[in-house]
Amino acid sequence: MHAERAALLRDAAERANSYLDGVDERPVRPSAADIAALERLAGPLPDAPTPAAETLALLDEAGSPATMASQGGRYYGFVIGGALPVTVAANWLATAWDQNAGLWAASPVSARLEEIALEWLADILRLPATIGGAFVTGASMASFTALAAARDALLARAGWNVGEDGLAGAPRLRIVVSEEVHVTVTKALSLLGYGRATLERAPVDGQGRIMADRLPPLDERTIVCVQAGDVNSGGFDPIADICARAREAGAWVHVDGAFGLWVAASAAKAHLAAGAELADSWATDGHKWLNTPYDCGIALVRDPGHLRAAMSAPASYLVTSGHREPSHYSAELSRRSRGVEIWAALRSLGRSGVAGIVDRTCRHAARLADLVRAAGLEVLNDVVLNQVLVAADDDAATDAMTAAVQADGTCWCGGSTWRGRRAMRVSISSWVTTDADIDRTAAAIIAAARSGAEQETRP
Ligand SMILES: *Cc1c(COP(=O)(O)O)cnc(C)c1O
Repeated sequence: MHAERAALLRDAAERANSYLDGVDERPVRPSAADIAALERLAGPLPDAPTPAAETLALLDEAGSPATMASQGGRYYGFVIGGALPVTVAANWLATAWDQNAGLWAASPVSARLEEIALEWLADILRLPATIGGAFVTGASMASFTALAAARDALLARAGWNVGEDGLAGAPRLRIVVSEEVHVTVTKALSLLGYGRATLERAPVDGQGRIMADRLPPLDERTIVCVQAGDVNSGGFDPIADICARAREAGAWVHVDGAFGLWVAASAAKAHLAAGAELADSWATDGHKWLNTPYDCGIALVRDPGHLRAAMSAPASYLVTSGHREPSHYSAELSRRSRGVEIWAALRSLGRSGVAGIVDRTCRHAARLADLVRAAGLEVLNDVVLNQVLVAADDDAATDAMTAAVQADGTCWCGGSTWRGRRAMRVSISSWVTTDADIDRTAAAIIAAARSGAEQETRP
């Protein structure tokens, strides 16, 4: 038993290392043949056991080639970070522990790591030291969790208990979002009972930032959702201004800072999120700019009591220990130990290491923007962060360029629509990206734009 297990885990480590060794040389996207070969994983459910080593080998041989090489330096789709080696290693160890992180009694180490991670997060994100938080799958669930606390807190203030009485017949809350609100925030709101058509949308400027002077009036039954880092432009809403008005009115401010909140770690960029510490709740990710493995999101709430009121569900067999009980702050009971990788990343990088990732990726974005502009392409956003929106002559040419970039495989970028125009999104979030990666990327984008242009002018 022991020898077999040891051999299996060593084999997994070796396979993982050769995968990571190869990730920078291969095309970023898998080939059609690699995707077709995934069918080797299918077939009827086996009737009897097969050796574990054989199962792992099949997973590696058929699965690894069909991955996106997002652990390399030239994956720029969506907002996807790599995973720092220390976080992968910590994740492996924690998976071997196989702890249920829902209760202190079920895993003291998970519970304590979460408390420490919360303290460090408050410190590096420049948020109040007293915040409460939940370790969830991503910013989607982080917004869901924090907005549940917001809803329940505002309704409690209006004399309504959502946990007991539900939502039917509850006083009405107003929800203000930006015209550029991230789709996961509107999804969270609709899951919480606030459908898309009921939201008030604040107009934005050319960088997708709420225009503070056109913010709808706020009152004590309003939740305002602001963005720290627009998923397309990287723009920040005027958070300090909006928080000041919300304070006066008694409204709740929720910050979607999936990646942008991390600017707080950087002396050069922190000003972008100025005032974020005045908000009532925040959603952010570990798996984007902090470069932890999936899945890793964090919901943070100024008053931990509000989060606890929304999420705790006492039951007699779920003993409480006098410690922070993780499941009293999130929707899940059983879940994995999510504080582990955040702790490992912050412990290993330190303050300057986190700032280094933010500063480096922002510098890469600025340089890439300069390189493609110099070649005659257009950059649609002010490159204040790690996001670059590239456009060719017209929408068709832009889409052709994006498709050609993806097919070429030097790098991977997705498409988007920005202020009515098609764009190619470049989101530089990985700790591993180098200057040389940016040069290769710029060359690939410029070549893709030219090949698209040639095809268009051909009769
Ligand atoms: C990625 C992102 C989200 C959603 O986060 P997930 O981790 O994918 O759930 C929300 N808002 C913004 C601004 C994002 O960039």
